[in-house]
Amino acid sequence: MDILSHGLWGSLAFGRRTRRQFWQSFFFGIAPDLFSFGIFFVVALFGFAVFPHFNNGVEPPSTVVIPEYIVQLYNVTHSIIIFAVVFLIVWKLLGKPFLPMYAWGLHILFDIGTHSYAFFPTPFLWPVSHFEVNGIPWSEPIIFIPDIVLLITLYLWFFVYKQQQKAGR
Ligand SMILES: [Zn+2]
Repeated sequence: MDILSHGLWGSLAFGRRTRRQFWQSFFFGIAPDLFSFGIFFVVALFGFAVFPHFNNGVEPPSTVVIPEYIVQLYNVTHSIIIFAVVFLIVWKLLGKPFLPMYAWGLHILFDIGTHSYAFFPTPFLWPVSHFEVNGIPWSEPIIFIPDIVLLITLYLWFFVYKQQQKAGR
């Protein structure tokens, strides 16, 4: 799934109550990609890494040029096991589960189905197992069109619902 969709789904699922919770959920929704590819793009922007070559702008970038430390970061941020451990630590520290963090877990679930073996299949069981699912890439119309339609529909509902709530007060 693209990074913006991840953020929007996270906010919609777990950040509907307050503005603060909305943005916290958005943050956790994009965090797995932000702290892997995001770092790579910043590094590449400053010329410290070779930008991936896009073949005709269609094919996914060759993974060869993506440095090993980015791949490792991707493993860490896209592992359900790492997510569960961090989630439980935060739960212990706060004395209650931190709702916006669920957006991180949701990100991983979405990625499992929307990445194929060709480009960063989701290492969701890392470091215990290297089992990965050969999903349908999110760049395929069968994924991205329903994704956009659903997001727009649900956000419209969400804004109308919020307006009604305000008006009813
Ligand atoms: Zn991701």
